[in-house]
Amino acid sequence: MIANPFAYHAPATLEEVFPMLEDGSGKILAGGMSLIPLMKLRLASPENVIDLRRVPGLKEITESGGVVRVGAMATHHEIEISAVIRGRCPLLGEAASHIGDAQVRNVGTIGGSVAHADPSADYPAALVALEARIRLRSAQGERAVEASEFFLDAFTTAMEPGEIVVAVEIAAEEPSEGYKYQKVAHPASGFPVVGVAVRVKRGGGGIVLARIGVTGLGPHAFRARNAEALLEGGADIAAAAAVVGEGEDANSDLYASAEYRRHLAQVHAARALAAALTRAS
Ligand SMILES: Cc1cc2nc3c(=O)[nH]c(=O)nc-3n(C[C@H](O)[C@H](O)[C@H](O)COP(=O)(O)OP(=O)(O)OC[C@H]3O[C@@H](n4cnc5c(N)ncnc54)[C@H](O)[C@@H]3O)c2cc1C
Repeated sequence: MIANPFAYHAPATLEEVFPMLEDGSGKILAGGMSLIPLMKLRLASPENVIDLRRVPGLKEITESGGVVRVGAMATHHEIEISAVIRGRCPLLGEAASHIGDAQVRNVGTIGGSVAHADPSADYPAALVALEARIRLRSAQGERAVEASEFFLDAFTTAMEPGEIVVAVEIAAEEPSEGYKYQKVAHPASGFPVVGVAVRVKRGGGGIVLARIGVTGLGPHAFRARNAEALLEGGADIAAAAAVVGEGEDANSDLYASAEYRRHLAQVHAARALAAALTRAS
């Protein structure tokens, strides 16, 4: 299919972007891995396409004062191979390495993935487990939204009209923490049917910190807070994993029923927790 006609804009500064978003006729273009197929299928027909690739300062991955900042235009591959990410935020790099194939990872961006908010995207599980903050900017200024409050529904986020994602910020993981991201990939697309991201910290003979992010199960990624509380209260992995997804809406489609997805989430939460604990010192 061929997209409906549109005007292409390539602003050279961030300040040029915001007026282009004012009348609601424009769509940001990042890697185009999700937007272009939607336009070709005519499920999206923006009058104006605003390419962020020439805007400086949106790609850097830096760490300062224990906070890792990942620019919205950093590609999945750049995140996967970044020394900062490997050293200070390895869970995010592990999630990036699971996305699609090499072509998708070379072009797709973290900003595009979080803004698109596909209910089966990989990053959101890691971002909620990492308690990341999504930094948004508009003509009015900048604000940050907690990842667990950013993903509201399938393809729906807390972004307001006129806002764009400029970065994702994450408190650096402590070296003693264990982490694991694992997923059941759909054989056709590579997207997770269910993906689970886990962080754990040992202490006093038990687990003093547990964070479990789940993607693919429901309309948006979420933290399995009931299972986290059980682990931090001394429960074993099997007992905690058995409540993952309880009370959450579960997606159902031709490939995987809601019941099967919930089962996958619990099995993979148990496996991810066991693997993360072997990495925790
Ligand atoms: C074959 C294939 C396999 C894939 N497999 C997976 C997978 O296994 N796991 C996974 O998680 N993803 C997968 N993806 C999706 C991929 O990760 C995309 O890169 C991602 O969803 C969108 O990123 P993008 O940079 O390409 O964004 P684009 O396609 O350019 O944009 C997507 C949407 O976000 C908006 N947008 C983009 N950037 C911003 C911004 N900075 N601020 C505000 N809005 C913005 C756009 O307007 C558009 O609505 C796959 C895609 C393909 C084509």
